[in-house]
Amino acid sequence: MQHGPDRGPGNRSIAMIPPDHPRYRSLVTRERLADCARSGIVAMEGLTSHGRGEAFDYLLGERTLGSARIAEQTAAAMLLSARHPVISVNGNTAALAAPEIAALQEACGAIVEVNLFHRTEKRVAQIEALLTEAGADVFSGEAERLLPLTHDRAWCRREGMYAADVILVPLEDGDRCEALIGMGKKVIAVDLNPLSRTAQKATLTVVDEVTRALPEITRACRELTEDDRRRLISSLDNHYLLSEAIREITLRLAHALD
Ligand code: ATP
Ligand code: MG
Repeated sequence: MQHGPDRGPGNRSIAMIPPDHPRYRSLVTRERLADCARSGIVAMEGLTSHGRGEAFDYLLGERTLGSARIAEQTAAAMLLSARHPVISVNGNTAALAAPEIAALQEACGAIVEVNLFHRTEKRVAQIEALLTEAGADVFSGEAERLLPLTHDRAWCRREGMYAADVILVPLEDGDRCEALIGMGKKVIAVDLNPLSRTAQKATLTVVDEVTRALPEITRACRELTEDDRRRLISSLDNHYLLSEAIREITLRLAHALD
């Protein structure tokens, strides 16, 4: 999509996207991610992950399903009831939702820690700076290779996600989700693809777009009573939550040409 004169790759800007474009929000988000890829915050591979997410969001109708809202409330209940809650942040999440991460941290008191598949010290520092600028209190310092994984997502801090009992992992990779579950942690995933290994392995999966999901979790953190928390946690049924998302996609496809 091009509006106005072509200023060439690396020189486009969000200001060039016309606000009346029917897919304005999606285009602005893509531009933001492309900018963050150029600055090194988002890995090039992260752009394809976003594309997969967009495809599933299209199939879900680009809105928060009723089942996702239940998942968001349950996520809040789990974070508030945790002994050592941690929010794991990667490049895409930081690029899309740094202020939303800071707000959620304030509401639930979780540790915010950066964890990357395409890890370099420079990228970690850039993402930590972006989160700090947005108001998050980032848990940084010496990382060690502590998770049972052969790739670089194994790197984390002993007092941070290694010690977590509940860990929120937006846009996660299936391998690490499985490793965290294997360590006995409760894993909350935010993933638009209800079929992904992450979605299927997590304790709780929020099938919603991360910038819609995080504010809902934050709101629930502020509103849930002690009784609500207990009820939500004891009635958690991730199979039901995933099957509702899959049912919605199936229905939308079945009626696409009606
Ligand atoms: P898995 O190993 O779990 O089967 P994957 O490792 O191949 O999946 P990735 O490519 O790492 O998955 O992408 C992470 C997931 O994040 C994808 O399933 C994608 O649907 C989802 N995703 C991408 N962008 C967003 C977003 N903005 N909000 C919510 N989910 C998203
Ligand atoms: Mg994977």
